Amino acid sequence: MYGNRYIQVLLPLRLKWEPFYSYDAELTPSQLAVGDRVRVEFSGKEYVAVVTVEEASQEAARIGLEKIKPILESLPSLAKISREEMALWRQVAEYYLCTAGEVYKAAYPAGKIEEEEVKARVAKRMEARLERLEDKIARARREDTRARYVAQREEILRSAQNDKVGEGAYEREIPHTGSGGAAIELSDAQEEAYSKIKEVFKTGKPALLRGVTGSGKTEIYLKLAAETLARGKNVLYLVPEIALSRQLEDRIKAIFPDELRVVHSAETLSSRTGTAEFMRDAPYLILGTRSSVFLPHRNLGLIIVDEENDQSYKQDNPAPRYNARETAIMLAGIFKAGIVLGSATPSLESLYNCQAGRFGLIELKERYFQAADSDVEIIDTIAERKKNGMVGDFSRKLIDRINNCLASSGQVAILRERRSYSPALQCEECGTIPKCDRCDAALSLHLREDGSSKLVCHYCGRVREYTGKCPACGGPMKPLGAGTQKIEEEAMRLFPGARIARLDSDSARSRKLETETIKKFADGEIDILVGTRIVAKGFDFSGLSLVAVLQSDSLLGQQDYRADERALHLLEQFRGRCGRRSEKGLLVIQTSQPEHPVYKTLTGDFDGNISTTRFLSERKLFGYPPYSRVINVVFRDRNLPRVELMSRKLADVLKASDSDGLRTIGPYSPAVDKVGGENLRIIRVLLSKDSRLKARKNGLAEAVEAFGKERGYTSHISLDVDPV
Ligand code: ADP
Ligand code: ZN
Repeated sequence: MYGNRYIQVLLPLRLKWEPFYSYDAELTPSQLAVGDRVRVEFSGKEYVAVVTVEEASQEAARIGLEKIKPILESLPSLAKISREEMALWRQVAEYYLCTAGEVYKAAYPAGKIEEEEVKARVAKRMEARLERLEDKIARARREDTRARYVAQREEILRSAQNDKVGEGAYEREIPHTGSGGAAIELSDAQEEAYSKIKEVFKTGKPALLRGVTGSGKTEIYLKLAAETLARGKNVLYLVPEIALSRQLEDRIKAIFPDELRVVHSAETLSSRTGTAEFMRDAPYLILGTRSSVFLPHRNLGLIIVDEENDQSYKQDNPAPRYNARETAIMLAGIFKAGIVLGSATPSLESLYNCQAGRFGLIELKERYFQAADSDVEIIDTIAERKKNGMVGDFSRKLIDRINNCLASSGQVAILRERRSYSPALQCEECGTIPKCDRCDAALSLHLREDGSSKLVCHYCGRVREYTGKCPACGGPMKPLGAGTQKIEEEAMRLFPGARIARLDSDSARSRKLETETIKKFADGEIDILVGTRIVAKGFDFSGLSLVAVLQSDSLLGQQDYRADERALHLLEQFRGRCGRRSEKGLLVIQTSQPEHPVYKTLTGDFDGNISTTRFLSERKLFGYPPYSRVINVVFRDRNLPRVELMSRKLADVLKASDSDGLRTIGPYSPAVDKVGGENLRIIRVLLSKDSRLKARKNGLAEAVEAFGKERGYTSHISLDVDPV
């Protein structure tokens, strides 16, 4: 066959349809097939596209063959996209109401080879466009015309920024020490859980492993992994954060030195390409964060989702706004692989799925080292203050506990949710609280290494010098509340003999320092570790016997229906960090709301299952997830009156079609309603989980799309399915 052939391709864009292209059969050495990649031009830009239909001449003829552009070139050197990858993209797109092209873009963030090939030309074009725009801006007579050109210029510059590749290489040598020697020996309870998980796998359902902290879930995962690799199949092991998984990494490396590949979310393109090669050539166990679900998997036999309730599995922005837990379930379905979700405190969604019979539940109630649960002590800071029982942010009771602990060579971890010296400042004269002018969030005070101080916006990261004077009236400023830096300072004063360190995203900025701090704490070279919730996550320190939360109230009741559930999870997790071996640990909570049900649950006044039941019945009452599906319609716009108008208008449109199964709330402003100069508004839509859910979901997406198109406003609106 000679002459032109016609194909359809997927572009890495928010594009609902898949355009047609042609190629000359004589000039292309082999016929293009589904999954092959080609370079095409689309609306003035070049892209690396994926062939989705290899024989599209009939459909193409309907549009008119003369309108169809030829591809620029086929790219046989680029990896072919597998059927499974494409299937996953389509499922993710359907569920999260985005396009398969957006998922493609996330999965292949302009791979290295593509970059080199495409970048030069695109850059050239962009320069030309910028030049033309500059010209137009200079000649524009009307102010609004000029503004439009300026906006276009910004758009181009911004997209150039986004195309830049993430930096900060993190590559790891895979040691080739032969087959790992370390053996896996399960306890009886673990063995039983292991068998039950395999039973659940046989039914094709996901297994939820609810195991108290220290029960040794990891060993079970590892045995499942060993068994899977032995069958010649591959393993994906998802964790919320690699930085916190070093001990796990070492453990896996001891058993599967040749199969392990660690994938960091900030991975560079070259190591990503390396990962793809690694996966192609060898049996593998990928240990990675959420985006690892989009690696070019093959022959998957097992997926492990550790700490399945962790919020970091959800990507907020940009699209695809996916949750890796849900995506992993889809991926397991595509490969018919076993999937186990594990946690000490599973998400309500997953527990609900167990109740509904969609997941199989396996419980592990016993700790491996047989230690009893840590005790919980609640300290009422208001009552203490009245009795002169507080020294700064520490209660005298807690100080005693810490001294006792240090005296018996125990270690202490202190959690305070706010990093900074002080989360906010206030003028003593006029009461002004300085805020970020781009984000409408209070600026927090941070101390630098050299003792000088700066003001930082935690939403956009902007830094300003701190003069100590009120920006409005020049009066003196005082700190409002204490962040981790101040707590650390107080601890140094209160416990002068102790070795104290801090772990928060400020000090964790340098990964090396963070690793050192964790290692030092593990080796017993630090007595007191102060930090944000990072100190509550995945560590296993044998010497830790006391953990304390200061100003625990900041964990509760933030205008979010999930705040309590999350607070409970965090506190349970933190409690599990101490007393992991034989001696009993203690969790101290300082709060001004000692009667709060979250604390009652912890102290055992409420049973854990009762609290699950309580949370679930509350959710049911208000029609919140897991009893419904939430979709947020999110508006981002620099123009405040416009975003208010548009969000109200769309809400009106949506409300007009509210029904039993669909409820529209808002628009409302989120707690911080301006970020990076963009005003945020949210319309929340609750959809019943019934047979019409899918139809309603698609109807909503269409209504939003139509609204945006009609007003040329599409780029300001996005949909977030199952927001966190
Ligand atoms: P979880 O993840 O359930 O909180 P871990 O997997 O961290 O628990 O296990 C807690 C501790 O018990 C770890 O120090 C781990 O090495 C140890 N452990 C658990 N199971 C075993 C086992 N079967 N053999 C040896 N050590 C084990
Ligand atoms: Zn800001």
